[in-house]
Amino acid sequence: MKIISKFLTVNQYSRPGRRLAGCKAVILHYVGVPNHSAMTVWNYFERDCPRDKHYSSTQYIVDLNGDVYQFMPDDEVAYHCGSTLNDPASGRIYTDWARSKFGYYASDPTKASPNFCTIGIELCINKQGNFTEETISSAIELVAKLLTEKNLTTEDIGHHKLVVGWKDCPLPWVKNPDLFDDFKYKVREKLGVLL
Ligand SMILES: [Zn+2]
Repeated sequence: MKIISKFLTVNQYSRPGRRLAGCKAVILHYVGVPNHSAMTVWNYFERDCPRDKHYSSTQYIVDLNGDVYQFMPDDEVAYHCGSTLNDPASGRIYTDWARSKFGYYASDPTKASPNFCTIGIELCINKQGNFTEETISSAIELVAKLLTEKNLTTEDIGHHKLVVGWKDCPLPWVKNPDLFDDFKYKVREKLGVLL
């Protein structure tokens, strides 16, 4: 796995430069547009978000060929899983899963956000809307590395929909939840924690 540092310029919309309040989970996403490369997404965060006053970003993204790009130090806040809309199941902004896991950071959206205590990873999708083998293989390695560094377990792997409920991200795993279970199994395998 190759990690390429390509840090965004510090700016209020995609790299606020704020320190993460520890890391409680790693949250996976997909890039909504088929065949978009990591650098296309970098340009979006670097240029479009400040221009359009749109809050969005991630600490990591895994390209179609498996290259990992890091868009900011992973102890800085990125805007990847905050919300102002209600989760349909709980009727609250954040899901039961998020509120039990993040506590204060998912309790009052006017004061805090799960963005303040999580690391985001975007996964590119191919023309067919699927993750490539290379993307998944690097993502397994990256997540295993982050869990080890941040003293977390595979219970601390989440995805966007698990946090906000209404957002169908990452779509390939929302459509087929077995693929998410399989991903977590492979991270456990990588960490050597299978019983
Ligand atoms: Zn997402």
